[in-house]
Amino acid sequence: MELTPEIRLKAILQGTGAGTWEWNLDTNEVVYNDRWADLLGYSLEELEPLRFKTWEDLCHPKDLKQAQEALTRYLNGEAPKFECVVRMLHKTGDWRYIHTRGTLLTDEDGQDTRWLMGTHLDVTREKLSQHQMEQLAKSLPGIIYTFVLEPDGRYYFSYLSEKTLDFYGLTAEECLTEPDRIFDLIHPDDIARVRESIAISAETLNEWVCEYRVQTNHGSYWLKGVSRPEKDPDGRISWHGITVNIDTQKHLELELEQLSITDELTGLYNRRYMLRKLQESVAQGERYGDTFSLISLDIDFFKTINDTYGHPTGDAVLQRFASIIESRTRKSDIVARTGGEEFIIFMPNTGLSEAGQVAESLRIVLQAESFVSDDGKNFGVTFSAGVVNWCGSGSNITSVRDLLSACDQSMYAAKRAGRNRVVANDQGG
Ligand code: GH3
Ligand code: MG
Ligand code: MG
Repeated sequence: MELTPEIRLKAILQGTGAGTWEWNLDTNEVVYNDRWADLLGYSLEELEPLRFKTWEDLCHPKDLKQAQEALTRYLNGEAPKFECVVRMLHKTGDWRYIHTRGTLLTDEDGQDTRWLMGTHLDVTREKLSQHQMEQLAKSLPGIIYTFVLEPDGRYYFSYLSEKTLDFYGLTAEECLTEPDRIFDLIHPDDIARVRESIAISAETLNEWVCEYRVQTNHGSYWLKGVSRPEKDPDGRISWHGITVNIDTQKHLELELEQLSITDELTGLYNRRYMLRKLQESVAQGERYGDTFSLISLDIDFFKTINDTYGHPTGDAVLQRFASIIESRTRKSDIVARTGGEEFIIFMPNTGLSEAGQVAESLRIVLQAESFVSDDGKNFGVTFSAGVVNWCGSGSNITSVRDLLSACDQSMYAAKRAGRNRVVANDQGG
């Protein structure tokens, strides 16, 4: 069999399931193929006489206008192609979504008869699944999206559900074309972490999970993104996922976290936080060689203060002592109440003698303070302190436990030596 261009074209059209139409713009003559009628459940004979109006009559009245506008734009040269999706009435009474495409065919000189020729393709199934997807996206509590990272580093969203508008105050279309409009809303303190987590997910192809703050016209709030990466053979990575608003739960979580590390009576950090800080600092010191000092303070004869002036007065002493320490230490120092009348001051990048001086000046300040009991009696308060320095793995002290124990030993030495004094332990460094 000889493969003429006609035979080839027919085979291709059969393969695609497309109906064809040809419309002479000058004479209004119209030609449809069998498949064109078949898409709507008819034979061509049933639809005779075949005219331009045959199409118009089968079109959903509400879709006619946009089809005509698309055609006008194309014929006026404002659109590169004629393309639209319209609903057409099937013989069974159902509406089918028909994707219509067309091109203008003119003679070489562009003068003679002009034919607009095109295809009809039934996209009802695609349209319905798109509709289902949109409905699903609307019912979800977040934005669903597909984020794409090309091998050359370019990135963009290939899909964003409508909720983008509620979350960012930007339409999905705006963000599809300019993904940085979303990235620009991320809190400056969080953006590096967000980008790094994306890079790690791209590298490991593990699920991307990230919590971050955004600042939008609607306000600032915490979001959480969760998505699964998928790498195609070209090296392109697509993450399909969801972004939800976690602001309320995040604030509760942060509040709980704050409560869990705060001493209720004084508002200082508690023992739990100090231990965590020390563990981190020792680990970091081992890596980067950072040093720090610790001061352990214990109020002298505190039991007697309680017994003499009452427990509420004892509490007030603890609170006042806490604020004195806070006001006399640096912002980078960490002050914790680690026991009943015991406190620890953590001083980063501070040597033993400097820390000793801080402890000594605190001692002098406290000694000079006058306290008043609930029943109006004046009394003084003193403390004993031990100071120790941590200067890395070269020292005798290598664990947090040993460090705290050395600090306490110095503090006990101060007690034994008569109280109201500071003992610095230089065995750490
Ligand atoms: P030293 O000079 O040897 O340190 O004597 P001290 O009396 O301070 O030591 P001791 O450890 O015997 O007493 C500590 C007291 O602190 C005992 C306890 O009743 C009291 N205390 C612990 N927590 C609180 C608190 O939250 N409020 C009050 N008012 N007292 C507390
Ligand atoms: Mg004590
Ligand atoms: Mg004490």
